[in-house]
Amino acid sequence: MNTEAFFTLTYGLYIVSTQTKKKKNGYVANTVFQVTAEPQQLAISCNKDNFTAQMIAESGFFSVSVLEQNASKEIISRFGYKSGNDTDKFEQTAFFESPEGIPVVTEGCLSWFTCRLVKTTDMGTHLLFVGEVLDGDVVDEHKMPLTYDYYRKARHGRSPKNAPTYIKPENKKEKKQPETKTSVGQKWICTVCDHIYDPAEGDPEAGIAPGTPFESLPDDWTCPVCGAEKGDFEPYEG
Ligand code: FE
Repeated sequence: MNTEAFFTLTYGLYIVSTQTKKKKNGYVANTVFQVTAEPQQLAISCNKDNFTAQMIAESGFFSVSVLEQNASKEIISRFGYKSGNDTDKFEQTAFFESPEGIPVVTEGCLSWFTCRLVKTTDMGTHLLFVGEVLDGDVVDEHKMPLTYDYYRKARHGRSPKNAPTYIKPENKKEKKQPETKTSVGQKWICTVCDHIYDPAEGDPEAGIAPGTPFESLPDDWTCPVCGAEKGDFEPYEG
């Protein structure tokens, strides 16, 4: 199986949000699509371990905000790689509440929809939620939507482990490629998002020059993709 084939499927990136009586929560999804035009219905696929999934089932409502191409690393990290179980993701996020009480993220987004849950299908690891669209708007027509392909290729992003489209990084041990070390040192992998720090490349966006070994990164350096701390990395034996 050539898993690269999966990467040729096109997806966008979205923030799906909801609110129960107790709290608001949201996560980054890439599986959002319109299933019918009449009525207008959207479907989303959500991992059962995802705290937001349990909350959508409980509240019966969700919103979808379409991330724009230049959405900040912070907002993707906040909603994409952190659990809302112990944090309030909305505390530092621009959003509004629909008349039904659904939080709708506007920060880093170019459009949004609000939906009432009409059908839930158990897909094993994931729940497929279908929602009837209640409302929607374009916030900024001049912005481009962030596609998963662009996120992967231009922004070096990866699906978190509970995304339906998650693909394990290649286990190169099996392929016997002893290229674990570059001339400037060991590669390290983020245990949260699988981003690989390659000392040969450094992290130019964070001012880390190519040729900087992982051990020399400042203590407050964080994963450029998910914002995890240095301690969340482990040597990459790929
Ligand atoms: Fe990461």
